[in-house]
Amino acid sequence: SMLPLKVLKHAQEDFVDYQGCGMSVTEMSHRSKQYDAIHQECLALLRELMNVPDNYKILLVQGGASQQFDAIPLNLLSGSKVADYVVTGNFAKKAYKAAKPYGDIRLAASSEDKTYTYIPKELTLSDNADYLYITQNNTIFGTRYTSLPTPKSGVLVADVSSNILSEVMDVSKYGVMYAGAQKNVAPAGVTIVIVREDLIGKEQAICPTMLKWSTQADADSLYNTPPCFSIYMAMLNLRHLKKLGGVAEIQKVNEYKAGLLYDFIDNSDFYHNYVNKGDRSLMNVPFVTGDKDLDAKFVAEAGKNGLLSIKGHKLVGGMRASIYNAMPVEGVKALIEFMKKFELENK
Ligand code: PMP
Repeated sequence: SMLPLKVLKHAQEDFVDYQGCGMSVTEMSHRSKQYDAIHQECLALLRELMNVPDNYKILLVQGGASQQFDAIPLNLLSGSKVADYVVTGNFAKKAYKAAKPYGDIRLAASSEDKTYTYIPKELTLSDNADYLYITQNNTIFGTRYTSLPTPKSGVLVADVSSNILSEVMDVSKYGVMYAGAQKNVAPAGVTIVIVREDLIGKEQAICPTMLKWSTQADADSLYNTPPCFSIYMAMLNLRHLKKLGGVAEIQKVNEYKAGLLYDFIDNSDFYHNYVNKGDRSLMNVPFVTGDKDLDAKFVAEAGKNGLLSIKGHKLVGGMRASIYNAMPVEGVKALIEFMKKFELENK
């Protein structure tokens, strides 16, 4: 997804010779003092911008968000080995399936009956669960939790891959939250895992070394070579977000952007968004015309007009506007202007 132009330009200037040290970040040792400063600044900015309490560790790991689908049960199923999962989309389902071999994995609720167009409010929760698992923002289907469910037992675990840093989150409400970088943070490579300290070190005996949170927690996320360039880009992007006023400020912009687009769609009889209004994502806005050929034409013509990556995920078709932090208000306005023009020409 988009990164702020200022961040890309800064990285471009730094790319060949990082601050006159004679090397690129892509070349330097992860044990060098230059890289260590980047690494520590990235961790400190994450802690500051997300207001992460002192009793939580921030881990920078590899393997994408998907690797945490296995790491979570392997690290957390330490008591009853029971966990409750809410399946609100493709990634939640993948996480649910991945966890199955490691314990007694139960379905607390699913919104598959209505093509994941809503967030289930009625949950069947276990008395003895080690954790309750949710996907807080559903990237493909465009839903999100506007309030968090409370586990009956154990802690709340949330995949925040597509909404991290987009809205204020109270970290103390979660046992674990984690996100792949490639939406609101940096290019793919680093995965951020924020975990309450007392949950670290209780992993199952079969947990591979590289999936144990304790491995990276004990080594300040430098147990092995980290994805240095992705972490460097994250650091630059976090600096940029701090200058913009932090998460609370970007949340206002995100609410404004999403509001413009949803209002336009709701007032149109040509475009439709089928997500339950109370559960709509601020980041991902899927929409359709109701005619597959017309949708394909929309995607092709939008591309010619500089509106890129607007094709909906193959599971849902149609269009999807991913309006992550870096998408400016002007980008959303340009999309709406194009939608108006396309409607006039194709109605
Ligand atoms: N969870 C969510 C909510 C996602 O949007 C994605 C990626 N689009 C993933 C998990 C998988 O992430 P990764 O590709 O980093 O494994």
